[in-house]
Amino acid sequence: MLRHIPYGRQTIDETDIEAVCRVLRSDWLTTGPGVAEFEGQFSRATSSPHTVAVSSGTAALHAAIYAAGISHGDEVIVPALTFAASANAAVYQGAKPVFCEVSADTLLIDPADVARRITQRTKAIVAVDYAGQPCDYTALREIADRHALVLIADACHSLGAAYNGQPVGSLADLTAFSFHPVKHITTGEGGMTTCADSDLSLRLRRFRNHGIDTDHRTRATKGTWFYSMEDLGYNYRLTDFQCALGVSQLSRLGGWVRRRQEIAERYDGAFAGSAALSPLRKAENRSHAFHLYVISLADPGRRAHVFDTLRTLGIGANVHYIPVHLHPFYQREFGTRSGDLPVTESAYEGILSLPMYPGLSDEDVDYVAECVLRAVSS
Ligand SMILES: *Cc1c(COP(=O)(O)O)cnc(C)c1O
Repeated sequence: MLRHIPYGRQTIDETDIEAVCRVLRSDWLTTGPGVAEFEGQFSRATSSPHTVAVSSGTAALHAAIYAAGISHGDEVIVPALTFAASANAAVYQGAKPVFCEVSADTLLIDPADVARRITQRTKAIVAVDYAGQPCDYTALREIADRHALVLIADACHSLGAAYNGQPVGSLADLTAFSFHPVKHITTGEGGMTTCADSDLSLRLRRFRNHGIDTDHRTRATKGTWFYSMEDLGYNYRLTDFQCALGVSQLSRLGGWVRRRQEIAERYDGAFAGSAALSPLRKAENRSHAFHLYVISLADPGRRAHVFDTLRTLGIGANVHYIPVHLHPFYQREFGTRSGDLPVTESAYEGILSLPMYPGLSDEDVDYVAECVLRAVSS
């Protein structure tokens, strides 16, 4: 029988299922005690004083952009090699994403290119920890401080990673995480924004609840009906049964990240002698959470063939990402064009993401590596 190996997949066990069922039998399905419990555990796991649970990674980014005070006429610098949501969050608030380059060997935001794109209108930098490797936060912090910019981390790939021993979640002014099933832990859909500043955290809390200053449960305990809508917010709340799944999943994060790192080493070993492809470079002083394992083909002209061959063999290879400035929406609304970002566009042509998730066996990894090596030379 042909195997089917997807590029990413969740790990759910009986303790997860029981945790969700306990909430379904309780009084609070949403905005109950489970939300604060998940936020508290997440604070400890990421060493970040404030955490606000929301309904998706995209909502987490949108909330961060809002909390940073970004609005019409502002510019936000974001790498083009990312998921569209990293840039869309700025557009939701009426700001303009200014796309920047990544470094060709790590695919992480290039701080020198960020510095070149700063104008009078620049308000924030969105740094994407591509594939699970933290960006150069020393350089980014220095640039942000020098120009009074807000540093936002899109850490949807990097839960469990660290920079200079400091966990992701505590490195930027605001950090966004996703709990989509392909990410490190899942709540079905879900996300979290972390920060150190208590004013920012109040803005995040208000934003996820229509811009209203108190939540339903707080009013119930205080015996009041009055509330005040201070600003335009959204319903970006995460349910209690999703939070229960999150707490249960988070307790196994450490082992899952270690397994992802082992899988990456096994791929690295298999590809070590090959001239036809290379894994991305691992930068110094960081621990890499390996949301993705990305290879770069020496001959980008071979990518379609390698992709098709792997798909035929039941291996779910993928491409992360089509540079955001090449999407029709951005070309139409912001006038971006092919050729704007030569480093990013050329890197994009040759990349391929291979299966990466804790449930992969060593045998699966060896099979994928063997198929890749055969496909690049056939
Ligand atoms: C997954 C992801 C998002 C969006 O997360 P959702 O939970 O799917 O909304 C944003 N940015 C990056 C880099 C992602 O990988």
